[in-house]
Amino acid sequence: MAADCIFCRNGDNTLQKNEAAYAVLSWSPATPGHFLAVPFDHAESFAQLSGRNLSFLFSLIESTYDVLFERLKSEDDFLAKCYEDLFENPPLHH
Ligand SMILES: [Zn+2]
Repeated sequence: MAADCIFCRNGDNTLQKNEAAYAVLSWSPATPGHFLAVPFDHAESFAQLSGRNLSFLFSLIESTYDVLFERLKSEDDFLAKCYEDLFENPPLHH
């Protein structure tokens, strides 16, 4: 964790996390349910992440997609609630 890193200061809007990454809805979504998967490691490029952490990152993307997809199907107001929470508790960098 680095004090000057906007991703380390995300706040409480995490959808899911695992040992190496967390997922959060995009603050300015390109499409409903657009989320970011953010590795905890600080790397300048994707290629700098270890194979282990890449594996955790892809696993998180898959599980977050599954959770969002299921909740979108079963809860009509799921995204509205998520974005309401996000706007009430914005990430610290906005
Ligand atoms: Zn960080």
